[in-house]
Amino acid sequence: MSKYIFVTGGVVSSLGKGIAAASLAKLLEARGLKIAIIKCDPYLNVDPGTMNPYQHGEVYVTDDGAETDLDLGHYERFTHARVTKDSCITAGKVYYSVITKERRGDYLGKTVQIIPHITDEIKERLKRISKTNDVDVTIVEIGGTVGDIESLPFLEAIRQLRWELGENYAINIHVTLLPFIKSAGEQKTKPTQHSVGRLREIGIIPNILLCRTEKPITQEQREKIALFCNVDVEAVVEALDVKHIYEVPCSLKKQGLDELVLKKLNIKLPDKGLKSWEEGVVKRLRSPSREVKIAVVGKYITLQDAYKSIYEALVHGGIANNVRVNVIKVDSEGVEKGDPKKIFKDVHGILIPGGFGSRGIEGKIRTVQYARENKIPFFGICLGMQIATIEFARNACGMKDANSTEFNKETKNPIISLLEEQRKVKNMGASMRLGVYTCSIQKGSKSFDAYKSNKISERHRHRYEFNNEYRPALQEKGLMIAGRNEEKDLVEIIEIKEHPWFVGCQFHPEFKSKPDAAHPLFKAFIEAAVGKAKG
Ligand code: GLN
Repeated sequence: MSKYIFVTGGVVSSLGKGIAAASLAKLLEARGLKIAIIKCDPYLNVDPGTMNPYQHGEVYVTDDGAETDLDLGHYERFTHARVTKDSCITAGKVYYSVITKERRGDYLGKTVQIIPHITDEIKERLKRISKTNDVDVTIVEIGGTVGDIESLPFLEAIRQLRWELGENYAINIHVTLLPFIKSAGEQKTKPTQHSVGRLREIGIIPNILLCRTEKPITQEQREKIALFCNVDVEAVVEALDVKHIYEVPCSLKKQGLDELVLKKLNIKLPDKGLKSWEEGVVKRLRSPSREVKIAVVGKYITLQDAYKSIYEALVHGGIANNVRVNVIKVDSEGVEKGDPKKIFKDVHGILIPGGFGSRGIEGKIRTVQYARENKIPFFGICLGMQIATIEFARNACGMKDANSTEFNKETKNPIISLLEEQRKVKNMGASMRLGVYTCSIQKGSKSFDAYKSNKISERHRHRYEFNNEYRPALQEKGLMIAGRNEEKDLVEIIEIKEHPWFVGCQFHPEFKSKPDAAHPLFKAFIEAAVGKAKG
């Protein structure tokens, strides 16, 4: 039977609960435990697929095609846990399921209520995941901050589960903040006391407090927090700010978090250390041999979380090449009016990530033209690949009005368009081409060099596709169809032969990149950028 660790958050949002949960999972895996890791999100959307990046940040896609919270990206990057559509439980999913059951008559005669029907549904889902994956420990992160009205059913569900399972089978880690007040020169513990108080009101006493802090905690403060929050002194764990997120597992290990958790769960396992992570990831991050500058051109560049997996995959590409990747975030609308020569001065590679809607599109097309004509390594992902194709049709094949029907339905040259199956779609939720599809790779292409394989599989999230009618015209002018989905005869990768490194892919390789196993295309892109930097 799986044991459970519930991770809640207090005081403020954005405390890095997801990274803390993923790091703990990493530490427990290093001890030899099999882990499942789940995110509970209290909002009423069934999934974040229909949300704007300003609301939610990146939408992370799993192999089985679920559109999920970006914390699942951290889980996959830090661990080997299997992440699927079940790993993301939203209030929307839970209510949808309970109401569907009510309509079907499953609760005939009863009043359907938050307690027990919604809470039972949450508990069942949590248990099902542990059981299907046959894991030793299930880590459950509850989104939001304690005190939010929305998260109450989730907190009640974990309270019940803890009570049902008993001591040593389920624990709660509460992540809080110790703000440092400069004028007083002091760290404040009161917000933590209050948030633990809110937890206690609903019957949850945390076993461990993970305290986010800029400065080390003194013994005196530890004792004070322990006394007022009902936890052991040793269970007040300091989570100091670190330079890079991949240092968090090492920093928490230094604080003895894994040992403490195992003790509370009554699990005895030898400590095998974290050597390969420390040497293969952290050490390389700290002492790279040189730096490359990569421009990421998008419309959500002001938002740190909008292209989360892209930024992380670039870091991984850097680790694999032993270089630091310095990302320059470029607003695509700015490129419409500005001078690309100035904007991309000293840049060693340009990446255009995925996106939706027409804002900033012309700036992205100008960006591709600049990268193509000036032989700057270029990586186009999903929308980025579609833009690269449009640019090539316009400027290398003379089809001046080439476009995607997403941006201009009337264009005479719909280089990118909808397949018949997408034209019929009425509901916007979960109806894109989603999840893993196979792709055959052309020998002799840059992609083949990178993957060293002619059969790969990658995750998708888009509606529009390369229009096959234009294949011959574009190929004739030097566009290479480097990857294809054979089953549906779809273009998955394009390249330009006469260019040092110009690759566009319809899928999202960033979702499968890890710090200790960079995605082959990101590794190759950064390698090409290093080549450019060396001149
Ligand atoms: N908007 C494009 C489409 O739906 C690209 C999507 C994306 O980049 N994820 O096909």
